[in-house]
Amino acid sequence: MEAVTMLWSLGAAVAITLAVLCGLMWLGERRALSHLMLCLLGVATAAAAYIELGMMRSTDPAAFGAWLRWYHLPIFVGLLAQVLFVHFYLGTSRTWLLWTVILGRATVLALNFLLHPNFNFVSIDSLRTISFLGDRVSVIGQATYRGTQWFAVASLVLLLAYIADTAIRHRRQGGVESRRKALATFLAVGLPVLGTVVYVQFLAFGVLRTPVSNITWFLGALLMMAYETGREFILNRRARLELAELRGQVFQAERVNLLGQLSSALAHELSQPLTAISANLSTVRRHLNREQPDVGEISVILDDIALDDGRAVEIIERMRLLLKQRTIALEPVNPEEVIRNAVSLVRAEASSKHVALRLDLQPGLPRVFGDRVHLSQVLLNLLMNGVHAVQARPADARLIVVAARAVETTGEIEIGVQDSGGGIPHAMIDRIFEPFFTTKPEGMGMGLALSRTIIEAHGGRLWVDHPGPQEGAIFRFTLKPA
Ligand code: ADP
Repeated sequence: MEAVTMLWSLGAAVAITLAVLCGLMWLGERRALSHLMLCLLGVATAAAAYIELGMMRSTDPAAFGAWLRWYHLPIFVGLLAQVLFVHFYLGTSRTWLLWTVILGRATVLALNFLLHPNFNFVSIDSLRTISFLGDRVSVIGQATYRGTQWFAVASLVLLLAYIADTAIRHRRQGGVESRRKALATFLAVGLPVLGTVVYVQFLAFGVLRTPVSNITWFLGALLMMAYETGREFILNRRARLELAELRGQVFQAERVNLLGQLSSALAHELSQPLTAISANLSTVRRHLNREQPDVGEISVILDDIALDDGRAVEIIERMRLLLKQRTIALEPVNPEEVIRNAVSLVRAEASSKHVALRLDLQPGLPRVFGDRVHLSQVLLNLLMNGVHAVQARPADARLIVVAARAVETTGEIEIGVQDSGGGIPHAMIDRIFEPFFTTKPEGMGMGLALSRTIIEAHGGRLWVDHPGPQEGAIFRFTLKPA
């Protein structure tokens, strides 16, 4: 096979392979339209290679003219793919420039199909055969150029300006990755355009008598950008996997931490229905020992026992759910219900420590997107911290208020847990959310860090406010409405 045919076929094969790879990457992540643009560039490059071969193998001017005419189609698609690649990859700020470039190139394409034999020539009178890469190929001999060539050049210059402008703006965003992306894009897409502008002029004005070819720079751009986006794709995947793993670990640690806190809450909670059950059982036994047992009365007591038993089972079930290995599953939940549940879990612990619990819930709160169990964990953490914080105060001044309201401006639901404890020293405010930061001898310092992770996984924020000295702390978090 001749050298040119072999090289161009090889180029087309590489372009199609990259197109398939980029197409697959896009299928894996539909939002990354830059992958799709590279896939399009690959297809256009292969088509351009095929037509370039056709031109080089033409034996008469009419056939050459016809090939050149069709050549404009893959060139248009290739340029469009590159300009849109830059747009999706780096993000455009000057949309008007992007549209001007696209419109300019679309005009060249439309004129090309309106004019005979094509956009570049009024007539192609003869071909010449030259030696190229050790092969014999056809190039234009005698021809009359059209005066419209400047328009095509102007659109390429604008394309170059667009790429340079977008790359510079992206570079200014700072960060090593931003600078790398900007430079790679400019080198891969911008520089070849500059080379082409010059080369095409030499060709169009007959200074150079070499074959028309764009596949070298199309292919170069494609290779470099496919490498760049492929690298990013792999890095992103790895980062996502690591994040998922980290989250899993965090939730696991959080469950272990909560186990301690919950077991005491559970013991208190269960003691109430269990005591009631045992008292009721004694009453039933007394009734049964009578000569004439009152069956009606016994039946009422048995109903009571069943009710208490149901409550105990529900408490254990809630605990089981809380500790079961599970990920965050967002669904519409009623915030009031979650708050009441969490408060009921700590009520016994609070009353044994003389802490008053008050609810201040705005009526008719909308549902929020959340994971019931994880949200209960957050509330339990905050409530238990509050119970601990107010211990420094006299028994009659120990109060925790849980408030919830809809924020008018954002539509989010804000939930606050305020206590009447000693508050948080100013110097500590930034540190309390750090993992393992604790001031308690038996503390793990994970509660707030985990709570913040959970709320952020819900798309909300968790922070602490300081109402004033001696007024305790208010922890607040937001949740998105469902
Ligand atoms: P732990 O409770 O195991 O110490 P947390 O992450 O829940 O872990 O809390 C970290 C630290 O933040 C606590 O040790 C305490 O110093 C401080 N803190 C948390 N909540 C309150 C509160 N309501 N009032 C005062 N200090 C608090």
